[in-house]
Amino acid sequence: MADGKDIKKALDDIVDRKYTFMHICGTHEAAIAKSGLRSILPEDLKIVMGPGCPVCITPQGEIDAAIEMAEKGCIIATYGDLMRVPGTKGSLDNIDGDVRVVQGVHKAVEIAEKTDKEVVFISVGFETTAPTVAATLLTDPPDNFSIVCCHRFVPPAMKYLLEQGEAQIDGFMLPGHVCVVAGYEEYEEFKVPQVVAGFEADDILLGLYMLVKQVKEGRGEVENAYPRAVSREGNKKAMDMIYRVFESHDVDWRGFPVIPDSGLKLKPEFEKYDALKKFDVEIKHVEKHSACICDKVLRGVADPTDCKLFGKACTPQNPVGPCMVSHEGACKIWALYNQKR
Ligand code: SF4
Repeated sequence: MADGKDIKKALDDIVDRKYTFMHICGTHEAAIAKSGLRSILPEDLKIVMGPGCPVCITPQGEIDAAIEMAEKGCIIATYGDLMRVPGTKGSLDNIDGDVRVVQGVHKAVEIAEKTDKEVVFISVGFETTAPTVAATLLTDPPDNFSIVCCHRFVPPAMKYLLEQGEAQIDGFMLPGHVCVVAGYEEYEEFKVPQVVAGFEADDILLGLYMLVKQVKEGRGEVENAYPRAVSREGNKKAMDMIYRVFESHDVDWRGFPVIPDSGLKLKPEFEKYDALKKFDVEIKHVEKHSACICDKVLRGVADPTDCKLFGKACTPQNPVGPCMVSHEGACKIWALYNQKR
């Protein structure tokens, strides 16, 4: 297919019933919103965002644990997006403690090298950010440095969504950035239509076309529409680095119950960098008590505009839930780009 117009025409021609596909990536959502793609898709073709924003899926208990460490006198270092995500007692940006925004784990280590105080990096992200954190821990950072490991893997969440069936998904657009690192072999166990897609509007249109085609042909496999960046094997070196430092464990996600083997924790030989152990802090499960429906948005069963707080009590300036805080959150993206269904 030559260009976006051809793909769009092919998509218009092929869509013959209602289809719902899910992507699992904040960058895909931003690309869809910025390009106005939803407004030109066939009416019967719906693309929803799933749990693709690492900040949004970080549960309140993990924010509370970071706040507890700040209250114990630790310097907390983390990404800007996490600062305003609410825990049960507020967010990191409104507590009485030393909380610093850093661009990455290396900057948190630099802070530790220049102080005698304890520095805790709140380490969030999917397969994309975990290798850098692993690489840093392998360089033997100072003893006053530790992390709260909030990393999670995407495939177990997809498995949960498929088993549960709540979102009635016809197929998945796989996250391009995650697949650059992790490849897509692991997704082949899911016998549903899946396409790895890039982030240009044409990439996304092509991904959607390939998804519809798979459904119509009764296939359920992984196809790669982003071969310029993604291979089946991914970046083996980066994945090996993850498994040298971390091991998987069962963990809950915001909006989800505990998902087996979906989280990363430090291996015993790296325990000295485990801030939870070092400061005797526990991550507690928190039940939801608010009108925010981020949980439903993250499971792909509600649109941001279904929330009665959207654009009223909850705005990018005054966010109520994490999906309105993060630049990868569906609510913030919908608010900034005036998205509607
Ligand atoms: Fe939560 Fe705000 Fe989104 Fe509603 S609009 S789901 S309150 S983040």
